[in-house]
Amino acid sequence: MRRVLAEAAVVAMGFSLGGAWTARADNRPTPKGPDEDGTKPALVKIAGEGMMDSHAFQYLTELSDDIGARVTGTPAERKAEDWGVAKMKAIGLENVHKEKYQLWRGWTRGAAQGELLEPIRKPLHVDAMGWTGSTQAGGVEGEVATVNLFDIEEEVKHASRLSGKIVMVVMQGEPKKSGDVLFAIFGDFLKAAGKAGAVAVIGGQGGAKASGMNLTHTGILGFDADFAIPVLSMTAEDQGQLERYVESGKKVRVRFNVQNTFSNGPVEAANVVGEIRGRENPEQVLVVGAHLDSWDLSEGATDNGTGSASVLASAEAIVRSGMRPRRTIRFVLFTGEEEGLDGSFAYMKQHQSEMANHLGDLVLDEGQGPVKEFMLGGRDDLVASFRPFAQSLSSIRNIPVNDKVENGTDTLPFSLAGLPGINMDQDSPDYKYTHHSPADALEAVKPEVLAQNATLMALTAYWIADRPERFASPWPAEKTAKMLRAQQQYEMLKAFGLWKFGDLGEEGKGRNDPPQN
Ligand SMILES: [Zn+2]
Repeated sequence: MRRVLAEAAVVAMGFSLGGAWTARADNRPTPKGPDEDGTKPALVKIAGEGMMDSHAFQYLTELSDDIGARVTGTPAERKAEDWGVAKMKAIGLENVHKEKYQLWRGWTRGAAQGELLEPIRKPLHVDAMGWTGSTQAGGVEGEVATVNLFDIEEEVKHASRLSGKIVMVVMQGEPKKSGDVLFAIFGDFLKAAGKAGAVAVIGGQGGAKASGMNLTHTGILGFDADFAIPVLSMTAEDQGQLERYVESGKKVRVRFNVQNTFSNGPVEAANVVGEIRGRENPEQVLVVGAHLDSWDLSEGATDNGTGSASVLASAEAIVRSGMRPRRTIRFVLFTGEEEGLDGSFAYMKQHQSEMANHLGDLVLDEGQGPVKEFMLGGRDDLVASFRPFAQSLSSIRNIPVNDKVENGTDTLPFSLAGLPGINMDQDSPDYKYTHHSPADALEAVKPEVLAQNATLMALTAYWIADRPERFASPWPAEKTAKMLRAQQQYEMLKAFGLWKFGDLGEEGKGRNDPPQN
């Protein structure tokens, strides 16, 4: 989903326990890695299967070419679910099934045409943002008026000036709030602008200008948020030209015809689930996940075909190794991620009674690059025990470990539950171009990088599920709330209505001290 915009984001990352790990002053035993905890022989077999006989790229090719775009709640996404079920069964996972839930509303993209009428005539390249509305049939003309994203709270108050206008979002000066919070207020602005009679908004992802050459980027504009007003992503080249006209005082008139369709009510979707049951403690569960759904300007190969293929290929590497972990690994292809993590929130709800038996989740959803860090989703207490495992991977790749929270993918619901929502963060410099754009295609993915990521996922999953000592149990809400505040997640969660902790953890609010080792 990844809502934060490079341009608008103010750094909101929490502290991390990176750097050298100092020796412990107390008598706690030094954490054991695979060399000491007995997991190494199994991991060697799994690595061999994953690296030497990977089907990850084949799975990604099938998903990209045979199914293509798969927006949650559409027939194509249903087809992707069936494909996921078939793959999991073919791989040999146990207990393969779908877990249905309801998405608040369905949406289908229709035409989106734009034309510049004044001061010159030319076509404009636009695409609609997800879950936004339509112009009147045949389109609408209007004069362009700008609003400043960095002053969006003020713009909400003065929305009445936008009646009959085409609104173009610009960024002037410095942001006073984090990108996440601006994004939340942008939703309020869209409602106010619609009410005031504005006819369309040129606003891209939370108001940001599109990245890349001649690319648009679609996306949702909140968690489960839909808007009646059409909101358009415009290529940076076209938008830059409009901005120059406005700055020089020229009158700018444009014409848009946007036709999208909402469903009348909720639509059904499902997560796809399959397991490798644990040999000693099958009731204890590690979730390994990625999201199967995508946007629809292309085939969603990097968002999140790579993650979905990694989940399947990691499961396959473990099954073929013949090794069975102590605890259950539950592979989940989430859907509804792009609309607001709906699939993973539904999973938490449906499995609430077994949450105490969960060990966390492990997610890959940062595009096409190699894994660059393990973010342990707020659990600073797990960094020391995880590090020897990460070091055991050093002949494959050097991967640092920290306790940062990733709030833009299916890790967040687990972090909110006090469990490690582990993000396998990736080094994907091109992701800003492929993300939600027409360039999100198989061409952007290197098979050997994908195979390595899938193998790293398999190794991590197996090690967590198989090590003699249980890796993690959920934190109490108070501790979780304190951690989320310390990691600067409070404002964003509050702004989107996701803060469920009341005033818990307030003594940790705004804490910026360096961590105590
Ligand atoms: Zn994604």
